[in-house]
Amino acid sequence: MQLYQNQHINIYNSLTGKKETFKPINSGYIGMYVCGPTVYSNVHLGNVRTFMSFDMVFRYLKHLGYKVRYVRNITDAGHLENDADVGEDKITKKARLEEIEPMEIVQRYTVDFHNVLDKFNFLPPSIEPTATGHIIEQIELISKIIDNGFAYEVNGSVYFDVHKYNETNDYGILSKRKLEDLIHNTRALDGQSDKRNPQDFALWKKAEPTHIMRWPSPWSDGFPGWHLECTAMSTKYLGEQFDIHGGGMDLKFPHHECEIAQNQAAKGQAPVNYWMHANMLELNGARMSKSTGNIINPAELLSGKNDIMSKGYSPSVIRFFMMQSAYRSVLDLTDAGLLASEKGFNRLMNAVDDLESLKTSNNSSFDIKKWKQNCYNAMNDDFNTPILIANLFEVVTHINAIKETRATITADDLKLLKETISTFVFDILGLKKTSEDNASGTDKLTGAVELLIALRKEARVNKDFALSDKIRDELAAVGIQLNDGRDGTTFSTN
Ligand code: AMP
Ligand code: ZN
Repeated sequence: MQLYQNQHINIYNSLTGKKETFKPINSGYIGMYVCGPTVYSNVHLGNVRTFMSFDMVFRYLKHLGYKVRYVRNITDAGHLENDADVGEDKITKKARLEEIEPMEIVQRYTVDFHNVLDKFNFLPPSIEPTATGHIIEQIELISKIIDNGFAYEVNGSVYFDVHKYNETNDYGILSKRKLEDLIHNTRALDGQSDKRNPQDFALWKKAEPTHIMRWPSPWSDGFPGWHLECTAMSTKYLGEQFDIHGGGMDLKFPHHECEIAQNQAAKGQAPVNYWMHANMLELNGARMSKSTGNIINPAELLSGKNDIMSKGYSPSVIRFFMMQSAYRSVLDLTDAGLLASEKGFNRLMNAVDDLESLKTSNNSSFDIKKWKQNCYNAMNDDFNTPILIANLFEVVTHINAIKETRATITADDLKLLKETISTFVFDILGLKKTSEDNASGTDKLTGAVELLIALRKEARVNKDFALSDKIRDELAAVGIQLNDGRDGTTFSTN
């Protein structure tokens, strides 16, 4: 008997705009595809948030006993700079600027991506396919779409015929746009374009002589359009119809809309049952985005070497901060928010430590079984991590009460409590204890100060106040202030 037989998840499906009871195509198995990064620059924390949301989803589905095949691609073929299918591709442009091979750019930022996700304790996906590794599949798809009459070739490039498609299908089904409105809102073609209509999008582009990343095809030496790779890779590994497709909200249109259209045009069916979109991370109230430069990189936030935050934060505190907000809500990254999360995280971790020394009694003054089901209920309700965390804090209050002999717990309940906390805190939210957190290079300072805070706490327990004061004063002398609060000690630097 697997947990999923009792725990029924409701997922907000962007396609229908409703929360729906989740039912996989094949009982017990789930296919999930998430659009991965375009590897032409370092990932920023906005990217991290979206991938973290789906890491949490992956973790929960696995915990329920599903066999999940999670595919997250690497976009290494280079999108064109804008949706109108013109301009240089981003990877080639960066390669030209730095006078290196495009594949060196791809390699450098793929490594960075993996390092960052590692730091934040991500689980690896089951398959991580690359766009450049699936050119043959993309060419096959284009041929099918042409054969079915939904694409046309002009001067070696192939375009998807959105108008023709919309005669028998609904272009806009996901993003709730109407083709008439799109026509109304786009400028007419200036005569430079090969497209029949501005709404059409490229499936294949003929490469200019200077374009480095190119492949042979029946139409020209060129490269695939932006949206094609995800259709090719998702259906190759998950089947022509699969359960979940995720990505950031900004990918809903045109990227995911086009994925649906390509699939319908090539295979006559909608590819995905549940579309999930994670909301944006903001910085100073504006979306974090590579193109506007309103970004903070993971390394800067971990080390505190930035102009925005008062200090660095550990990977688990940042993860906890992100999990305190529902994946479908906009989240603003602020110092005050991170400081509050750090306090909450410390309070939670102190309670986890205290579990080891709790005394048991003949009865429990708290219904652990009911509380455990409440934790599941939160996650079953479209992965509501803030409600889950509220439940965790409810039990923290109870743990503290038991510690102060104001409440009681039986040995069996304590065992259940330990197991449940460990499941939700470490397995599903993906947090790590401070001592195990991935301190490397840039965040060594945080690790070292946390260690001194722990030593000081020990000194105080042993009533060695001379030592505890010395630690505090000498840290202050080098510009690190310790702040004692109800939930433990935090630090700030000046
Ligand atoms: P990209 O490398 O630009 O294709 O982005 C990779 C993923 O990060 C996509 O799923 C985007 O939707 C997502 N993303 C980009 N900016 C943000 C942001 N500010 N907040 C959350 N997710 C984002
Ligand atoms: Zn994609």
